[in-house]
Amino acid sequence: MPLITLRNVSKTYPPARRGEEPVTALRDINLEIEAGEIYGIIGYSGAGKSTLVRLINALETATSGDITVDGRQVTGVPERQLRQLRLDIGMIFQQFNLFNSKTVRNNVAYPLRVAGRSRAEIAARTAELLDFVGLTDKADNFPEQLSGGQKQRVGIARALAASPKILLADEATSALDPETTHEVLELLRRVNRELGITIVVITHEMDVIKNLATKVAVMDGGRIVEQGEVFEVFSNPREESSRKFVSTVVRGVPSAADLATLRNRHEGRMVTLSFRDGGASQSDVFVELAAAGVEFELVYGGINDISGRAFGHLTLALKGADQAIDGALAAVGHGIKVTELN
Ligand code: ADP
Repeated sequence: MPLITLRNVSKTYPPARRGEEPVTALRDINLEIEAGEIYGIIGYSGAGKSTLVRLINALETATSGDITVDGRQVTGVPERQLRQLRLDIGMIFQQFNLFNSKTVRNNVAYPLRVAGRSRAEIAARTAELLDFVGLTDKADNFPEQLSGGQKQRVGIARALAASPKILLADEATSALDPETTHEVLELLRRVNRELGITIVVITHEMDVIKNLATKVAVMDGGRIVEQGEVFEVFSNPREESSRKFVSTVVRGVPSAADLATLRNRHEGRMVTLSFRDGGASQSDVFVELAAAGVEFELVYGGINDISGRAFGHLTLALKGADQAIDGALAAVGHGIKVTELN
């Protein structure tokens, strides 16, 4: 059974003021997240990502549909039954949400104090967590004395304090520079691998998904427009909005502006060849084109590596009779997709 299941979930916020319209933030969401996964939720601002996670940890209630977490019903249950659920879910945020007047140690200890754990237990667990995130030497510092990356490591230690099964990360690296992002992502990978914690990452940064997640759901206008293995979604996005998103990190697909520049520089038809896993089929294309007497020039392209699997896109400018070009491209086998650029 999946650890987190959403079935036909919708969420409409009532109007904030009289005369305003209600806002439907989620529409008919179906999602299953297995234990041990790192699941990415991506989409532009306003797509409904935060609402989705707030439903998972019951900070908001769904307007319709069913949500279960670890076999427990989340929708339509009384508040006191949600307490255990919230202990099972840790959360980290873009702005870290640390207590500025508490030391690093006391920030991490806070959830344990609230849960009424003994002093000895709190001391031992806090020390263990600070060691895990590499901040033992900062235990007595205050958040303002830390870098952004260190603050987020405190956030992670605090989120892990009550030994949750699930960690929700809401734009957790969006306020960090690329180098620090890399460090925090590495720590999150360890949280998943070494502690077996399921992680749900919400982000508008495709790089985060590419470097961290195993599965991904792409959201647009309150719906999940596409979901699956990160490699599948990145190498062959089916929906326009996923394609737009994916193109920001996938090397090799010319943007509209790139294409205009290419057209100024090269004559003839242009096609992008998309291939996956290995390069054998690329050379088939070149052989077919040469055999048909079509001249070609490689004008744009790149190879990507995601989860140890490769895929890429090569754009060719082709010169020759239309019939010869069409014949050569039609002869290209499976495993390679040809897109004509207009
Ligand atoms: P994202 O996290 O992808 O940026 P959100 O879930 O925050 O998206 O928002 C989805 C939509 O719901 C937006 O139109 C937003 O304005 C609206 N929304 C979010 N939270 C509230 C709220 N508490 N009250 C009313 N509308 C909200």
